[in-house]
Amino acid sequence: MRLETRAVHIGAEPDPETGALVAPLHLSTTFLHAPDGTQDHGYLYQRYDNPTQARLEAAAAALDGAARALLLSTGMAAASTLLQSLPAGGKVVFQRDLYHGVRVLAEDWLPRWGLSACFVDARDPAELGAAVDGETRALWIETPSNPLMQVVDIAACAQAAHRQGALLVVDSTFATPVLQQPIALGADVVMHSATKYMGGHSDVMGGLLCFARDEALAARAFDVRKLLGASASPFNAWLILRGLRSLPARMAMHCANAEKVVAALAAHPAVSVVHYPGLASHAGHALATRQMTHPGGMLSFELAAGREAALKVAGGTRLFHCATSLGGCESLIEHRASVEGANPVSPPGLLRLSVGLEHADDLVEDLQAALAGL
Ligand SMILES: *Cc1c(COP(=O)(O)O)cnc(C)c1O
Repeated sequence: MRLETRAVHIGAEPDPETGALVAPLHLSTTFLHAPDGTQDHGYLYQRYDNPTQARLEAAAAALDGAARALLLSTGMAAASTLLQSLPAGGKVVFQRDLYHGVRVLAEDWLPRWGLSACFVDARDPAELGAAVDGETRALWIETPSNPLMQVVDIAACAQAAHRQGALLVVDSTFATPVLQQPIALGADVVMHSATKYMGGHSDVMGGLLCFARDEALAARAFDVRKLLGASASPFNAWLILRGLRSLPARMAMHCANAEKVVAALAAHPAVSVVHYPGLASHAGHALATRQMTHPGGMLSFELAAGREAALKVAGGTRLFHCATSLGGCESLIEHRASVEGANPVSPPGLLRLSVGLEHADDLVEDLQAALAGL
């Protein structure tokens, strides 16, 4: 079965009891078991496992080519669950251009879990080779990365990690399984914030961990979820499962719209640089062409006039809403440096766009009008 067909059918099997075509939403927190504790129906307690979530996990695993998937309450819960599942002692090597929350997790929380963190430009083989050593438990990359849209070579990172007995973890939130298949390229775990494109409607939070092999690490992550309790609600599992059905169709339109927005921005005199792997001028262009089916619906750009100009453009659009997050139907614009807390890492003149599902011409006109106001 091809990806689009898997997205519609896996986890969406008609309910054998009622014939309902749409997956039932089971809200029960508890399930009948035998007097001796035998789980006749395969479930015990909602925090451990539940039937609606099991459907979503089957679908997510099928889309990423994974042996097993786990749903967590948020993307951050997925990230922290995985990091808490690694053996204590040793270090985790992170890609430097990283989702802000994961960076804070690495710097402030990893030591509490008995691990240290270091940061590299994973695009540089020499830097990568020096950082990933025998003490390394995992190499954590994000590609394309947030917000600079850096593209990292997944297969090369898998080799660098595996040579030292470390795991490769890929945060594939921007790409989704539609645009990129990290497990086929050698990744051991794929992480997604399902809050973004997978849910797809800006109305549900969730995180997914997709494991290449159903081994000790996946079992450990299951236990962390079960005991530390970052389980998602069945309703959220149900909403994300619904989102997956249209994911390939939505991604196609996000991508087509992004291309038109990129072309308009790249031609605009007030814009100094557009960060989008689809542009031949982008450092990761050749790699993205090899590793992804399309560079995606996310991009950032910088204004030559800097911070004040960026804030003015963000305040001047009417269709692009000024808000954080990404991957919903509506287009978003965000001045990242303003939302990154005390030590922002994004360039001051940078704006990030999540290109939505409106008509591309309306989006281009909206940006052009905001840029004309400079
Ligand atoms: C949003 C995001 C996360 C965190 O996910 P939440 O669902 O917000 O907890 C992690 N990585 C990336 C790349 C993201 O965009």
